[in-house]
Amino acid sequence: MHHKRCEILSVGTELLLGDTLNTNAHYLAQGLSRVGLDLFIQTVVGDNPERLKQAVRDAMARAEILLFTGGLGPTTDDLTKEVVAECFGRELVQDKEALDEIKAFYALTGRVMPKSNEKQALMPRGGILLKNAQGTAPGCIMFSDEGHIAVLMPGPPREMQPMFDSEVAPFLQQYSAGRLYSKVVRVVGLGESRMAEMLSDLIESGTNPTLAPYAKNGEASVRVTSRAKTQEEANRLIDPVVAEIMRRLGPHAYGVDVPNLETVISKRCLQMGKTLCIVEAGTSGLAAQRMQETKDADRVCGPCLSAPETAKLAQALNMADPLPGDITQACLGLARQAAARFQTPVAVAIIVTGQQAACAVQVDEVLHTDARVLPARGKDYYSTHATQMAFDLLRLIMTKGQSLGL
Ligand code: AMP
Ligand code: MG
Repeated sequence: MHHKRCEILSVGTELLLGDTLNTNAHYLAQGLSRVGLDLFIQTVVGDNPERLKQAVRDAMARAEILLFTGGLGPTTDDLTKEVVAECFGRELVQDKEALDEIKAFYALTGRVMPKSNEKQALMPRGGILLKNAQGTAPGCIMFSDEGHIAVLMPGPPREMQPMFDSEVAPFLQQYSAGRLYSKVVRVVGLGESRMAEMLSDLIESGTNPTLAPYAKNGEASVRVTSRAKTQEEANRLIDPVVAEIMRRLGPHAYGVDVPNLETVISKRCLQMGKTLCIVEAGTSGLAAQRMQETKDADRVCGPCLSAPETAKLAQALNMADPLPGDITQACLGLARQAAARFQTPVAVAIIVTGQQAACAVQVDEVLHTDARVLPARGKDYYSTHATQMAFDLLRLIMTKGQSLGL
């Protein structure tokens, strides 16, 4: 079957006003990617027949499969079916099965069916009815003479989602040339643009697989996606590219399909039979929280201390002398004392004051430090970046000489 392009058209003025978050587009985009269909453009359009008509015509010029949500209700402002039928040159006729379903729904709930609901039983001639197990508005699939397919689904996510999963996705599978499979290489200590530069030829020339760089929460990642019939076929396409990415990014690439840095650290601690403690000031306890959310935290994590200021940490650790003013030196003192006091072979100390961040990591009595001045972006940013800096330092020390594998 010829491979088709999709577009999503989310219909509803409430979406344009920002009253409703367009979660349907999010859900459908993920669903289409699982099915392996290309989605290049999404549109949001209000409940206005002229603008909707224009949006449908524009989409028909670019794509073969159009997915709609919203505007299938019984009221007069719900006009998706009417407008799409007009654009597709299809007549709407009363569908007995659809009407019976709606009547049955009202009978079950013991209410009288308003006359306006009859509109919901109008179906395009030659189309496919999509039953709505969760509400009254049935969906439908319409075909145009030029080979377009329109899938119309109700707006409420709890009605749309099961309809898409149980009927639409299986129907669309026939138009897909295989599913999409991806692997994500996680990267730290390199900005997204620097990473993209190092991979530019791969990003530009990639067709199967394709490479997509991302940046989030103080780190970057690159997603390698291929279209294939099976996981094995996908691996054959993806794995050599992932290996080349790892080679180029060297120690900056910290894992493939791993959720985050702390998971890598936690796993490594477990393998080496080491526990760790964290003491941190000015990060709102972020490092401890992240580490304690890892799967093996109960076996790896020793005590953690957090405070808004270093002096309180020193006090809690019973340190006799005041901490040095230099925050890197202060971190060294805190890490050493924490390891001794909490009896863990690994200790991490982090200090953030204003835009300055420093960390110290002690592993088996050997100390390492890192420090930097951060750009003025606010407290959350400082906490995130200071934590990333400390975790990356610890990860590099603990995985030295280790192959990451695939
Ligand atoms: P409708 O089918 O257009 O009458 O939509 C009914 C309700 O579904 C709306 O009032 C919204 O609460 C919800 N809805 C419609 N479209 C979306 C969308 N794209 N994402 C999330 N919710 C939606
Ligand atoms: Mg609506």
